[in-house]
Amino acid sequence: MPTELAYLADFDSAYRQRFRARVVGRPPGAVVLDRTYFYPTGGGQPCDWGWIRRPTGGAIRITEVRRDGAVVVHRYRGAPELAREFVFGTEVDAEIDWDRRYAHMRLHSGQHLLSGLIFARTGRRTLKASLDSARATIDLDSPLAASEAPALQEDLNRFVRENRPLRIRTVARAEWERDRSGRASGLTLAPGIDPVRLIEIDGLDSCPCGGTHVRSAGEIARAVVVPLSPTGERWALSLEAESPSTRPG
Ligand SMILES: [Zn+2]
Repeated sequence: MPTELAYLADFDSAYRQRFRARVVGRPPGAVVLDRTYFYPTGGGQPCDWGWIRRPTGGAIRITEVRRDGAVVVHRYRGAPELAREFVFGTEVDAEIDWDRRYAHMRLHSGQHLLSGLIFARTGRRTLKASLDSARATIDLDSPLAASEAPALQEDLNRFVRENRPLRIRTVARAEWERDRSGRASGLTLAPGIDPVRLIEIDGLDSCPCGGTHVRSAGEIARAVVVPLSPTGERWALSLEAESPSTRPG
């Protein structure tokens, strides 16, 4: 039975912090649910952490979430007895570690914004992007002088200040292949993905992505553009300060 990737549906789903689901598997050291809002490691975005409540009280701490074929495996920390109550069919309450998830959302959207701005300003595409809890890193298809950083920072600040919206659009792969406009900042798409989930930034960029994102650029808040490699291919975006949390799920 495949796990429903409930966090994918729309922006509201990405903000969901608590949910109910049913246990459908218990591989050693892990729990499989019929649906999940936990993001599993993939696409350059690290997994969520969090908790799954035990029916009789207390919770197991989820410290690793990954896809295994069609299911999502939630690995917990501690002794196997902790999960004894999670028998097949049990309904459980789960909670996402929101500070970690929200930092990932802000960084991931910030990375798309930075990739889009670099493409708009210089025509350079992003070949690879990844993030940890502190910063998003991109590799460009050709070097970009560090002296471009202030201008990129200014562009980024303007999008944040104007609180430009992001959109999620799902299109057939054939349509995406046809309409690959010059606005797309890069990132090639693996074969077999159809339909294609696009993250669009108002008037700037449209990029295939299965990650979790903020609704608008204002939420990225204070982010700093940093040239990383001396040769100019690698750039990063770091979060300077937490923006106030919005909307508990
Ligand atoms: Zn992405």
